[in-house]
Amino acid sequence: RVVNTVSRGKQEESFNNALRPESLQECIGQQNVKDKLSIAITAARQRSEPLEHILFYGPPGLGKTTLANIISNEMKANIRVTSGPALTKQGDVMGLLSNISQGDILFIDEIHRLNTVVEEFIYPAMEDFKVDFTVDSGMHAKTINFPLKRFTLIGATTRAGLISAPLRSRFGMLFHLNYYNTRELTLIVKRSAGMLNLDYDEDALSLIASRSRSTPRIANRLLKRVRDYAQVKGSGKLTVDIVESSLKMERIDQYGLDELDRAFLKALITVYDGGPSGIEAVAATLGEERDTLEDVVEPYLLQNGFLRRTKRGREATKKAYDHLGFDSGGLEKK
Ligand code: ADP
Repeated sequence: RVVNTVSRGKQEESFNNALRPESLQECIGQQNVKDKLSIAITAARQRSEPLEHILFYGPPGLGKTTLANIISNEMKANIRVTSGPALTKQGDVMGLLSNISQGDILFIDEIHRLNTVVEEFIYPAMEDFKVDFTVDSGMHAKTINFPLKRFTLIGATTRAGLISAPLRSRFGMLFHLNYYNTRELTLIVKRSAGMLNLDYDEDALSLIASRSRSTPRIANRLLKRVRDYAQVKGSGKLTVDIVESSLKMERIDQYGLDELDRAFLKALITVYDGGPSGIEAVAATLGEERDTLEDVVEPYLLQNGFLRRTKRGREATKKAYDHLGFDSGGLEKK
């Protein structure tokens, strides 16, 4: 029932899809989001109406795509999946919208990356379920008004601030997804381990959970790495020792920080005297995309007290200095 118009071609995607919960009931954590969704879904179904348009925002891997799929299951509606960068012209959107049935869901991942032309084309579709489609150009250009079936648009983005105000105002419900706690991640890893038929010690699973950067996608990814390690270096069973050795090899530390997280903090401390520094400067030093740093790296470091954001820029905290083994002067402690 899922029509995927994005070819990610990534092995991880099929692994993710296999482990995705299919109902709100099965979905772990995000209680407040689930409560509100459950009411909206029940109410819409009682009235036999499609759901309002929904926007999910939050760091990658927290379940935006998962929730969109769950909503389509719960609404017993078809879902069409696409992404902002895949919709480059009006015709791309027309192709999707003209085939849509009453109540169907259109999921647009990375919706902040829609170009202006496409974005403005979508406004009347969201608001009045019609589009003004331009055919031909120049002297022969004409606009055809095209009515659409009532559908639900679900958008996902890493930061709500990246979306223009007119687009944001056309969503009926906005949901911020938060990081998960270790208890929730342990349940997620346990569920995945069960689905993969793994043999494990309970403590091994909570250890994976605690190193997962508070993110379900990373929890599942680490589980996969540990599974391989256990198979090759151990008896196949997931034990605390196996998890420790495997995560050491993956260079995931006791706070769940990975190499990029540490490189970010190290650059801030050694090149910019701990800050304040602009994000562009740190991105240039690391040779990384600014977006990756802002969407993936920074939210976790901020949340965990390794980083401060002030008007003047980013600053490393004492916790960052201590954790990376630098004294307050930025010298590496022996
Ligand atoms: P996003 O769209 O926010 O980047 P995804 O929805 O793709 O994140 O989630 C990544 C993976 O994490 C999913 O494949 C799923 O297996 C797992 N996951 C996410 N949220 C949950 C959850 N609440 N409960 C269980 N597993 C989850």
